[in-house]
Amino acid sequence: MLPGQQAYWGSLELQNYPDALSVVRALAPDEPVILNRPHAAARAARFFAEKFPGKSLYAVKANPSPDLLEVLWASGITHYDVASISEVRLVRETLPEAVLCYMHPVKPASAIAEAYKVHGVRTFSLDSREELDKIVKATAAEDGTPAADLRLCVRLRVSSDYSELSLASKFGIDLADAGELLQATRQVADWLGVCFHVGSQAMTPFAYVQAMERVRAAIVDASVTVDIVDVGGGFPSIYPGMEPPPLGDYFDVIARAFESLPVSYSSELWCEPGRALCAEYNSMIVRVEKRRDDELYINDGAYGALYDAAHVGWRFPVKCLAEGRVDALGTYSFYGPTCDDADYMEGPFLLPADIQPGDYIEVGMLGAYGAAMKTRFNGFGTGSVVTVDDEPMASQYRGDRRDPRQSDNVVSLR
Ligand SMILES: *Cc1c(COP(=O)(O)O)cnc(C)c1O
Repeated sequence: MLPGQQAYWGSLELQNYPDALSVVRALAPDEPVILNRPHAAARAARFFAEKFPGKSLYAVKANPSPDLLEVLWASGITHYDVASISEVRLVRETLPEAVLCYMHPVKPASAIAEAYKVHGVRTFSLDSREELDKIVKATAAEDGTPAADLRLCVRLRVSSDYSELSLASKFGIDLADAGELLQATRQVADWLGVCFHVGSQAMTPFAYVQAMERVRAAIVDASVTVDIVDVGGGFPSIYPGMEPPPLGDYFDVIARAFESLPVSYSSELWCEPGRALCAEYNSMIVRVEKRRDDELYINDGAYGALYDAAHVGWRFPVKCLAEGRVDALGTYSFYGPTCDDADYMEGPFLLPADIQPGDYIEVGMLGAYGAAMKTRFNGFGTGSVVTVDDEPMASQYRGDRRDPRQSDNVVSLR
């Protein structure tokens, strides 16, 4: 990122700090500060690039910050799963040589045409006959000659039962109808793929086993040659109360399932991690503006990076940055800064019993679906971005995995 350039969410300071406490001491910030940890994202990217038994596509929607995209690219992630024409343009602009795969099953025709003709996108996903026809039409030459280099992935509906956040009801074709669509897609595709998404934060590798069984049934039913099997996202990160098995277990199970599929030996295995590649990239410093008993009014919330904490009760670890507070902990809920009652995070969040207005809090593990969710609603949502050198509050990639003191800092409310 060039000096003076705008980061995705605020102005990116050029100076590095050792940790959140140093940022508070130096800046005493009036607005929330997002902390970037490039070393953590680089470590995650290298892990997937080296250990996943196939190709890893970064799912850009989890965190589209250009500074993060550059870190992932430099650490071996060459393919990017994009879902809108704005994401196509953003990644193309940031990483001119990246391979872009447009994996939203419902796209405007104009977006497909621009992606194919202007940005070199060849891979598209679909889950209906209408979308297939739309893709063929939008990518044809002016004289009507159909494109001969399309890589088309048919999205199967699979169960989200093993994941914290469902992606099962919206997209994906039912197994009963998949055979016909696979055959029709095979007719026009240079490469034919099958893809699915087990839901986000899949807490057991078994989620992929049941999905791969559906892939097998669909391939057998259609009797088509399949060139790509794409197991989607869903790879978990670590949050309080949610400690999944090591990612290596997921990779082993997926590799075994892939090897036993009726596909040619030259077919490729893909995955689309979002959360797992970026969760550790960001945390955020917020300030307590007011305390009312066990309710803390902080300066970010439901319309900011804490969207998931408010809307789906997601558990993020927290840490008080004020010095000299007592060891005894109290349980708190948070109000965000907007005037909306819904700007509320029930928690409970465990913080010092004598926390006061003016104290700062670091909220961890906000790289995935956190920093990306900020809006400007009600005049909030601005702030700055700095880089820190310390470890994220939890890590899948460090070996020791987690500081146990942080592990139950936020108690599940579900
Ligand atoms: C959101 C999404 C992903 C990333 O999911 P994670 O759970 O963050 O890994 C991957 N692929 C598709 C098609 C998605 O919509």
